[in-house]
Amino acid sequence: MKINLKELSTKYDNIAVVIHTRPDGDAIGSAIGLYHGFSMVGKEIDLLCDMEIPRKMSFLYGTDKFKTTVEKKYDFVIFSDCGDPSRVGNIDMDWRSTKTMCIDHHQSSTNFCDIPNVDPSSASTCQLVLDILEENQIEITPDVANCLYAGLMTDTGNFSHTNATAKAFSDASKLCNYGACPNVLNRRIFKLMEGNKIKLLGNTMSNLKFFEDGRVAFFYMSLELLEKLEVGSSASEGLIDFALSVENVQIAIAVMQSADKTFKVSLRSISDIEVNRVAEHFGGGGHKQAAGCTLNGYYEDVKDKLIRQASFYTI
Ligand code: AMP
Ligand code: MN
Ligand code: MN
Repeated sequence: MKINLKELSTKYDNIAVVIHTRPDGDAIGSAIGLYHGFSMVGKEIDLLCDMEIPRKMSFLYGTDKFKTTVEKKYDFVIFSDCGDPSRVGNIDMDWRSTKTMCIDHHQSSTNFCDIPNVDPSSASTCQLVLDILEENQIEITPDVANCLYAGLMTDTGNFSHTNATAKAFSDASKLCNYGACPNVLNRRIFKLMEGNKIKLLGNTMSNLKFFEDGRVAFFYMSLELLEKLEVGSSASEGLIDFALSVENVQIAIAVMQSADKTFKVSLRSISDIEVNRVAEHFGGGGHKQAAGCTLNGYYEDVKDKLIRQASFYTI
């Protein structure tokens, strides 16, 4: 067994799982899966994320366990779905002086942990956690199956990206056998639009810009727009898929102004185009078809730089 939960729980006193900022279903689901695994071997661990779990995901079992601040010294820290320590955002912890482990699937994962478990061939971190739970013969309850399914579902773009492989479907099938409920998760995570999100969808799509003969689609959400429509930053999630669904579009780019005036960039691409390379050029990362980065500077410069870089990858 590669990761023995019982052994870890007796070897270390204070264990934490930390996930990336702006947490997605995979980060959240994988951490809850680990929380469950440890609790089944009698160990209470902490889950850390530098921001509140988005309201959209907060129906998932275990999301109330997350803490946004570090209140104790940990002697073992697991970075889940987190390819680089900078991705934890404002979690303030001296992780260099503790034993660390990674459970991750990002291609761009840096080798920063004492015990790396990085499998870029896996569509989601939740599948790696599913393997760990099964290897440790932990009972997977329907609640936990839903959390893991939610992560697999979000990271495969609802089973539509190239990482929706036979393995992704067989793991989804396993999770259904453990009690996951795809129709409920699909509606809550992919279909439901909270509050004024539908207005943001209308606004962004009617202002969609095209470049490179329609191969690159681009839209921008300023702080002013988000405030005017009374939507939070999480309302932007999923809108980019509409841009990518336009005929001939190969790369979609969404830029959102954050409260600190930096620009949070999301990138999506159709098969064969590795949009993570565009993100990596700007110090970000992600997966072949879904990646992101954060940029500073003037909006017009940011936009031009992104479009120029993306144009190198269109075919
Ligand atoms: P998003 O567009 O925010 O849904 O992110 C898509 C993918 O890119 C996710 O797998 C993220 O983990 C990754 N990603 C987003 N932003 C960054 C960043 N600043 N640095 C590295 N990876 C990122
Ligand atoms: Mn993630
Ligand atoms: Mn992931």
